[in-house]
Amino acid sequence: MTDLLEVTDAGLYCPAGGFWVDPWRSVPRAVITHAHADHARSGSDRYLCAAPGKLVMRSRLGGSVPIDTLRYGESTTFNGVTVSLHPAGHVLGSAQVRVEHEGQVWVVSGDYKTAPDPTCAPFEPVRCDVFITESTFGLPIYRWPAPDTIAAEINAWWRANQAEGKTSVLLAYALGKAQRLAAMVDPSIGPIHGHGAVMKLVRAYRDSGVRLPPIDAVPARAKHVGQGRALVIAPPSVAGSGWLRVFGEVAVAQASGWMTVRGIRRRRGFGKGFVVSDHADFPGLVAAVEATGARRVLVTHGSSEAFARFLRGRGLEADVLATRFTGEQPDRDDAGDAGDDDSVGAEGAHETEGSDPDAGPAVDPADRGELS
Ligand SMILES: [Zn+2]
Repeated sequence: MTDLLEVTDAGLYCPAGGFWVDPWRSVPRAVITHAHADHARSGSDRYLCAAPGKLVMRSRLGGSVPIDTLRYGESTTFNGVTVSLHPAGHVLGSAQVRVEHEGQVWVVSGDYKTAPDPTCAPFEPVRCDVFITESTFGLPIYRWPAPDTIAAEINAWWRANQAEGKTSVLLAYALGKAQRLAAMVDPSIGPIHGHGAVMKLVRAYRDSGVRLPPIDAVPARAKHVGQGRALVIAPPSVAGSGWLRVFGEVAVAQASGWMTVRGIRRRRGFGKGFVVSDHADFPGLVAAVEATGARRVLVTHGSSEAFARFLRGRGLEADVLATRFTGEQPDRDDAGDAGDDDSVGAEGAHETEGSDPDAGPAVDPADRGELS
């Protein structure tokens, strides 16, 4: 049986249907899993995404390029190939792409998480013959604490900083993570401010019907914003930049799955890190693969080699699929943050990092046992 999807120079291509999924070059028809820039690149003629993500996609792509939508579970056909989109639980509008042709079903998961998130629809397992999975955190050391536990930790940190008259600066991806964190924390503690890159997506989320607490932009040329009481949510690129000066004395922390790794926390040089990711942790990845019932699994970005080996050990046919997706990066902004005037993030940097499917942080031996 021929493969329904294959990797070409332009990206993941369905020859029977004549469309690409998350292409990295300009193509006639792009089906997009979600709006992070390693998956949603501008320049294609026509886009298809899940309806809840349309405004976020528009804010990423800009202009007037046609963006078609499907509701979750609704299907369309391209040259007799049936395509439907199903919630991936990653960010607002994120979708798994189900492709069916001549009795074969493939699912491209894009990025996904299985943990609950108040700002997007929960991940839904889709039965298939072949499952294409990410593996950003595809090592057993990655196990996320419950979101309530993390929210309580962030609230406690915010309060403790207030007691010392410090503004709390929480570094997080501008698309998805920032909005999720705003929805997780206790807004009665103090005012919440967002960096320009964050506010752009906050508006897209609100316009899409997602409920978020009050979040204020940081006015240009403002001084002493936050008064030592506020929580500021900003992309990681602001770390060490002059942008932070308007807040006076600050305490800076990063919210990322990579905060699991002591060596990365140290390298970033922050007093604090919160383990919160919009990707599945290792048990989440394993459960998601199992729930699809797929006999064949193709593993893309992250710890792809190790995760494919793990799946083979469980009797599945599993291989690495080399793509240019990058997922969450330990020391960089998601490219979703790029393009904003205030942001220092560089979109091009993601492509080089993503070209190595096994690119990832070196894990301190001391960290390996940390959460086991
Ligand atoms: Zn993503």
